Amino acid sequence: MAMSVNGSAPAEVDVVVVGAGFSGLYMLYRLREQGLDAVVFDEASDVGGTWYWNRYPGARCDVPTVDYAFSFDPRLERDWTWSEKYATQPEILAYLQHVADRYDLRRDIRFGTRVSAAAWDEAARRWRLRTGHGDEVTCQYYVMASGCLSLPKTPDIEGVDRYRGEVYLTGRWPHDRVDFSGKRVAVVGTGSSGIQCIPLIAREATRLTVFQRTPNFSVPAHNGPPPADRLARLAADRDGYREAARWSRGGIPMEITDVSGVTAPEDVRRQRFEAAWQAGELFAILGVFNDQGINPVSNELVAEMIREKIRAIVGDADTADALCPKDHPFGTKRPCLDSGYFETFNLPHVRLVDLRRTPIVAITEDGIDTTGESFEVDAIVFATGFDAMTGPLVSVSVSGMDGVTLKDKWEHGPATYLGLMTAGFPNLFMITGPQSPSVLSNMVVSIEQHIDWIADCLRRLREDKIDRIEPTPLAEAGWVRHSQDCADITLYPRANSWYMGANVPGKPRVFLPYIGGVDAYRRACQEVTENGFVGFRLDGPAGSRCNDGVIRRLQPDVAMVLDLMASLELPPMETMSVADARAFIEALAAERPPGPDVGEITDGVLPGPAGDLGYRLYRPPSAGPHPLIAYFHGGGWVLGSQDSDDPFCRDLCARTGAVIVSVNYRHAPEHRFPAAADDAFAAAGWIAANAAALGGIPGPLTVAGWSAGGNLAAVVCQLARDAGGPEIAGQLLLTPVTDADLGRPSYSANGEGFVLTAALMRWFWDHYAREPDRAQPKASPLRGTLAGLPPAVVVTAEFDPLSDEGGAYAEALASAGVPVRHIRARGHVHTSLTMVDAVISGAPVRAEMAEALGSFWPEPVLG
Ligand code: FAD
Ligand code: NAP
Repeated sequence: MAMSVNGSAPAEVDVVVVGAGFSGLYMLYRLREQGLDAVVFDEASDVGGTWYWNRYPGARCDVPTVDYAFSFDPRLERDWTWSEKYATQPEILAYLQHVADRYDLRRDIRFGTRVSAAAWDEAARRWRLRTGHGDEVTCQYYVMASGCLSLPKTPDIEGVDRYRGEVYLTGRWPHDRVDFSGKRVAVVGTGSSGIQCIPLIAREATRLTVFQRTPNFSVPAHNGPPPADRLARLAADRDGYREAARWSRGGIPMEITDVSGVTAPEDVRRQRFEAAWQAGELFAILGVFNDQGINPVSNELVAEMIREKIRAIVGDADTADALCPKDHPFGTKRPCLDSGYFETFNLPHVRLVDLRRTPIVAITEDGIDTTGESFEVDAIVFATGFDAMTGPLVSVSVSGMDGVTLKDKWEHGPATYLGLMTAGFPNLFMITGPQSPSVLSNMVVSIEQHIDWIADCLRRLREDKIDRIEPTPLAEAGWVRHSQDCADITLYPRANSWYMGANVPGKPRVFLPYIGGVDAYRRACQEVTENGFVGFRLDGPAGSRCNDGVIRRLQPDVAMVLDLMASLELPPMETMSVADARAFIEALAAERPPGPDVGEITDGVLPGPAGDLGYRLYRPPSAGPHPLIAYFHGGGWVLGSQDSDDPFCRDLCARTGAVIVSVNYRHAPEHRFPAAADDAFAAAGWIAANAAALGGIPGPLTVAGWSAGGNLAAVVCQLARDAGGPEIAGQLLLTPVTDADLGRPSYSANGEGFVLTAALMRWFWDHYAREPDRAQPKASPLRGTLAGLPPAVVVTAEFDPLSDEGGAYAEALASAGVPVRHIRARGHVHTSLTMVDAVISGAPVRAEMAEALGSFWPEPVLG
C-alpha cells in the first residue's frame, strides 16, 4: 500500500509516472487496470499537459480532433462530442479533465510537484526519486510521460530581463485572460504557436509587430464542424477506423498516393495540390506526391505552389516575399495550420519585421531594437518554441547504472531502444521518447501504442517473475542506426529544425523522432515482444535471460522494396524459362527511374571473338578526354544487356566523370562458358585500343562490373595480366561472383528473401558453366593467381548470398599484395545498389565507390 510523506507523496510505489497529460493519464489508467500501485507527478496544478500550459489565444490542435483523441474506451468516445474540426485548447483541456474525472484518476496524481532527480539503486532494484518539495519516493518502474514539447525554450535574446512591459511565453500562458486591447504588441517567433496567436492578437492590439527570423510554410485549416465523412466512417465502423489509424503511416487513416511529383503532368500536380490545400490537413499537404519527402525536385513543386498562394493572399509584395519560406524543403520543419495568418499582414496596424534583414540587437526597457529600427511596445509575446523531445527528459537529473546521468549519456545525441528505454537505465520507460514516431505522428495514437506496449511488458514481466528490464547496447545501437537510416533517405535532416535539435544553441544535431512510420514502428515493437523480447536483458530471482539482437538491419528503403516484391507474389525466376526470365527483367526495367542525365549516350558495336558485340557509351557533359571504364552488366551470364544496367551506368558516369562503355557480351545457355569471359576480354582490348576515339584518356583502362559482370571484370584483369595487356588501371567489382562454391555461410544466411536467392544463383551457374569448368579461374577468379593484379574496389552487400565470396576476393587480393578498398554496404541486398533513385540509401555507397575509383586515375577529372 502507498504511504504518504508530507501528507501528499507516497514513499513507495510500484510505478511513478511523471506528467499528467494524455500520456500520464492513460498510463495511470492502464497501471491501475493491472492492480499496480502508481502515483503521477506533474508540475502543473491540473491535468492536461500541453493543453494545460498552452493557453495562448488561438491555441488548437493541428490534427483533426476526432483523430486526436483516445481510442481505448469506445464508451468514452460515444459520450464525448467535439464541436470543431480542430478543437480549441479549452475544449481539449476540458476533454482531458473529463477523462481524469471519468476514471477517477486525480486521486493518484500529485499536482504542483516537479520531479527533480531520479537515481537507480541497483542493489534494491528500485528507482529513488526526489521531488521539488524534497520528498523521496521509491519505485520499481519509472515512467517519463513528461512530453516532447513541455519545456519552453527561454528566449535567448540579449536584454530580455531589462524589459519593463508585459512579457508572455506561449508555452506558459497565464490562466487569466490577457487583454491586448489598446496595446502595442510584439510577437517574436513564427512557428505554429506564433502563427496561431498572431491573427487573434491582431484583433485586439492597436499595433502588432511580428518579428520573424524564419518564414514558415502554413496552410489554411478551414476550420468548422468536424468533417462529416470522418464522423460517418467512425459511426459505421469505429473499431475498423481506429485500427486503420494504428496501422497507418502517421496515425490517421489515409490513402497513400503513388503519384510522383517528378513524373506527374502539370494538371495532375495542380489538381492534387489544390485538393490538399482545400482539405486543410497537414497529412494531406505532406502527401501531395509520394516523393516530396525524399526528392528535392518534387518537394520544390509543392513549396512553390504554397509560395504562390502566399503571394496571392498578401497585398504588399515585399511582405509577401519575406513571408515565403525559401531556406528549407517543405515539411522538413513542421508546417503550420492557420486561420487567417497571411491575411493578417494586410491589416494596416500589422507589420512584419524580417529579422534576416534587420536582426534583433537587444531587448530594451521599452521594446525591441533591431539593426534597422527601435520598436516601443507595451507587451512582448515570445512564441519561441521548446527544447523538444530530449529537453524534458534530461532536465531531470536522472542517473542510472554506475551513476551515469542521462544528460551525459546523451551528450552527443539521444540513444534509445525503440524510443521506449535506454541502456544503462533499467526499468525506466519513456512515452514518445526520441527515436519513436512521436511528433511526426498523431501523437495520441503513438501515446496509446507506447503505453499499451509498456503495460503489456509489465504484465509479462510479472508473470515471468522478472523484476528488471534493460535494453542491450547492441539492440540500442542498432535501433539508433536504423532511425538515422530512415531520416537519411529523406530531406528532413537538411533543415535547421527543432526535429534536428537546431533551435537550441549547443544541442547536438541529430534527427530526433523516428520517421519510418507509425505502422512500421508498431510492427518492430510487436516483433520485439513476439520473438522473446529481442534486445532486452531480463533479470529476476530465478535468473537472467537475454535474446540479444538488432530488430531492423535492412536499409529502410531496401526493406520497402522487398515488402513490395513479396506482396506481388511473383514466381521464383529459377522456375521460369530463360525467355520468360529475360522478358520479366525487361518489364521490370521499364518501370524504374531513368537515372541521372549525362552529356551524351550513344550505341555502337565492337568486334568480339565470335561476331560483333553491342555497346552503349555514356559521356560526361564536360569536354574530354575522360577516364575510360569498360563495364559489364549483371544478370548471371544469362540475363541483361546494355539496357539492363542503364541507370547505374548513367550514375557511374555522372559521379566519376568517366566515359563508360557498357558491353553486351554473349549469354548462356546459348553461349556457355567461356563465351562471356572471352567477349569481355576482347571488348576490353578493343576499348583500350580505341580510347582516344571513344573520348577516353589513352592509357590504362578501368574495368567494372556488377554481379556476373563483376565476375567478368575480375576475369578480364587476370587474363590481361597473363596476356601482357591491355593495361588495366583498376577494377571495380560490385557484389561480384568470384567462386562457384555455393556452400559459403552467406549462401545459407542470405539465401532466401533478398531477391538474389541461392536457388537462382544455382540456376545461373547451371546455365553458364559445366561442373568441371567452374573450378577454372576464368569462371571462379578467386581460384586464380592474384599477385600482380591491378588495384581493386570490391563492394559487398550485407544481405547478399555473394557477400562472403566478394569479401574473400577482397581479402585474397590484399594478401597477394594488391591494393584493395573493400566497401561493405550495410543493410543492402545484391540488387539494391544498382536501383538508382529507387533505393535512395544506395547513393552514399555509390558516392564512396566513385570516390574510390578516382584513386585509379592520375588526377581527378570530374565532369
Ligand atoms: P505533455 O502534454 O507535454 O505533458 C507532459 C507533462 O509532464 C506536463 O504537464 C509537464 O508539466 C509534466 N512534466 C514534465 N517534466 C516534469 C517533471 N520533471 N516533473 C513534473 N512534471 C513534469 N500533437 C498532435 O499530435 N496533434 C496536435 O494537434 C498537437 N498540437 C499541439 C499544440 C501545441 C501548442 C503543442 C505545444 C503541442 C501540440 N502537440 C500536438 C504535441 C502534444 O505535446 C502532444 O500531442 C500531447 O499533448 C503530449 O502529451 P504528453 O502527455 O505526452 O505530454
Ligand atoms: P517553433 O516551431 O520552434 O517556432 C519558434 C519560432 O520562434 C520560430 O519562428 C523561431 O525562428 C523563432 N525564434 C526562436 N528563437 C528566436 C530568437 N532568439 N529570435 C527570433 N526568433 C526566434 O515553436 P512553436 O511555434 O511553439 O511550435 C513548436 C511545435 O509545437 C510545433 O512545431 C508543433 O509540433 C507544436 N505546436 C502545434 C500547434 C498546433 O497547431 N496544434 C501549435 C503550437 C505548437 P527560427 O525558425 O529561425 O528558429
